[in-house]
Amino acid sequence: MHVMVDPSEVKRFLLFLKLYGISHEVLIANVQSIIDTETEANARYSNTFGWKRYNTLAEIETWLDGILEKYSNVTEEFVVGTSYEGRTIRGIKISYKEGNPGVIIESNIHANEWITSATATWFINELLSSENQVVRELAENHDWYIVPVLNVDGFVYSHEKNRMWRKTRQPSNFSSCIGVDPNRNYDSHWMQNDGASDDPCSQVYGGPHAYSEPEIKAMSEFIFSIKDKVNVLLAFHSYGQVLLSPYGHTAEEFPENYEDLMQVAKAYADAVGTLSYGSVFQYGSVASVLYQATGATNDWAYEQGILISYTIEFRDSGNFGFVLPPAFILPNCEETLTGIIALLGECQKLGYLDAK
Ligand SMILES: [Zn+2]
Repeated sequence: MHVMVDPSEVKRFLLFLKLYGISHEVLIANVQSIIDTETEANARYSNTFGWKRYNTLAEIETWLDGILEKYSNVTEEFVVGTSYEGRTIRGIKISYKEGNPGVIIESNIHANEWITSATATWFINELLSSENQVVRELAENHDWYIVPVLNVDGFVYSHEKNRMWRKTRQPSNFSSCIGVDPNRNYDSHWMQNDGASDDPCSQVYGGPHAYSEPEIKAMSEFIFSIKDKVNVLLAFHSYGQVLLSPYGHTAEEFPENYEDLMQVAKAYADAVGTLSYGSVFQYGSVASVLYQATGATNDWAYEQGILISYTIEFRDSGNFGFVLPPAFILPNCEETLTGIIALLGECQKLGYLDAK
């Protein structure tokens, strides 16, 4: 378990650990110092969109406009819906030909996981501009539906007010705490088995009811509307370096095609392992590898018949956590591309990319 402790609580926390005989190590001595370093790195490249720094929502949208214009023959914008604060949640469809299997990428549902939208935007760019033969085949033989930033309100808040913000920004009717964990808000075993919290102040608050968050209601409707054309769903998250398949509500039960899901996840992990960075990815079901979590995208999508459905936790394993330094953006992107090529290759072998 990774815990972030307020400086004023450190003494008490250490006492607590001692009292219960819990061993510990310090991963990040001062979270603010790595946020400051990240802010400096972002400022260094402040005039150029790119992947040496983390871009704001406005920068990502301007970039997306340019991409849609430049590649208008193979791209199409889609609008997922409107956020609580009234922002438009945008996505891009990339399709080179008719009849391709569909892949949905949901990204930055958790606001503070900036590496996810950085990776999603890089991936879009790669699909459209790479001249590498393997990437060309990847791009042209699948239909891509990519939402680079789903939790737009939270993302803006994490840039402007609180780097560690995770949830949406909708206030609660009965608490002064704001926001819901959007990845606990889909209508899939919602709030069952302690898979989310009913406390609005919790980081994993499931909301007053399933789909209480307009972002999630809209995203579920969007996915539902295209589910018959979609074979694979990948939800980008950080951190932890793990591929998580259904289910999240119980570790006692596994999906019917669990063996296939593990074989496909292994292909991703093995491929990433061949790169020089030495990153190790684990895999398994949410509840068996992590903990019980309900109302998440991957479980919900699986229940809609998207039988290859994962949450992918990107870098790292805790040295920087959510505040992954910008220097690691490109290595993470490279790992993701390599992993997805292998993942879809394995899906193809197992027959999951056939027309539905
Ligand atoms: Zn996440």
